[in-house]
Amino acid sequence: MESYTLIGPFTQLLTMKGLPIKGALKDKQLDIISNGGIVFRNGIIEQVGVFSDLSAQFLGKQVELMLISGDAVCLPAFIDCHTHIAFGGSRANDFALRNAGSSYLEIANAGGGIWSTVQQTRALSQEQLKEVIVERANELLEQGIATVEVKSGYGLSVAEELKMLRAIREANDATEVDLIATCLAAHTLPKDFEGSAADYLDLMANEVLPILISEKLSNRIDAFIEQSAFSSENIQSYFAKAKELGFDLTVHADQFTTSGSAVAVQFEARSADHLEVSGEAEIEALAKSDVIPVALPGASLGLGCPFTPARKLLDAGASLAIASDWNPGSAPMGKLLTQASVLATFEKLSNAEVLAGITFRAAAALGLSDRGRIQKGYLADFIVFATPTYQDITYLQGALQPTQLWKKGTSIIQQA
Ligand SMILES: [Zn+2]
Repeated sequence: MESYTLIGPFTQLLTMKGLPIKGALKDKQLDIISNGGIVFRNGIIEQVGVFSDLSAQFLGKQVELMLISGDAVCLPAFIDCHTHIAFGGSRANDFALRNAGSSYLEIANAGGGIWSTVQQTRALSQEQLKEVIVERANELLEQGIATVEVKSGYGLSVAEELKMLRAIREANDATEVDLIATCLAAHTLPKDFEGSAADYLDLMANEVLPILISEKLSNRIDAFIEQSAFSSENIQSYFAKAKELGFDLTVHADQFTTSGSAVAVQFEARSADHLEVSGEAEIEALAKSDVIPVALPGASLGLGCPFTPARKLLDAGASLAIASDWNPGSAPMGKLLTQASVLATFEKLSNAEVLAGITFRAAAALGLSDRGRIQKGYLADFIVFATPTYQDITYLQGALQPTQLWKKGTSIIQQA
């Protein structure tokens, strides 16, 4: 058995302890330990408290001391619970066309849109795709993100979806980031499929879902419910089958038209993501449910669309996670902290709400109960910013980067 490690003292240690999964949060609710310390062993947090108390308690025991000097704010490593970082190519031309006034249809007709990413992703070998996933995951790691959800959905055939999910698994073995794979075979009806949307979803349900289980590729199923993708009627039997097989569900919901969030509530999905056009009825239904709403400000910034009504969701009593949606079409930036901080200024979110949205509430969106807080029994996944107050983290809108990142008790990033 490894010896204990004691790390500290941190000017401020934000544990996120005691904060509820749902509802609005005030900064005064944050559990902040001044001159705090963390004791961990075998990658798991053993104790959290005032550094000098922990030093006295562990004096004489086998303990490795990691001393922190200077200003330091420690908090749980961030979690990005919605990304599409498994993609080939670029959609810079779509971005230019859209900003020059072209419509969705005109962009598609010019060879852009999701279909162009499908072609550029299919053109990569599984090994090449793995490489780009690892590269992007490591960029997120630099931002203090230790857990990243990654969707398939640019394969859109049985073989290509499986290639994507196998590449995600191989990437997971090649990066320090924990990659949580989600099957998004129901992203859009592929142009080269001969048959109806129902036929396509039946094929995916019958041919892909069983292999996800047998090869342990993913336990999460996502669907894009939208006029340009699949209708809530289309998705019923697909989700019913997935649920019967034991998959967790998540939905791309209410991005341009409503109906997706109702499906998320109906199927008790882990999360409903996007929600830019959710109205009072959708917000109320989400607030009554245990579905985690996920705001994707990167998509709003990429498309020039309104933000998810984060304030209204929280005030109605819903939860709120925030994710980057990093993808080549609508959210090419891939900077979670910048996006979450910008969302806060437009939606009037407290620091506690922003930080909860990228820590334990994002963990809940992924069905993970072992991370997102700094407390006994949780993974020793934490980050350190060289600054005297946690307020600087959102104030500097992503310009302040963590100087340390610890993943399961191992130092991954360590800057002087
Ligand atoms: Zn997405």
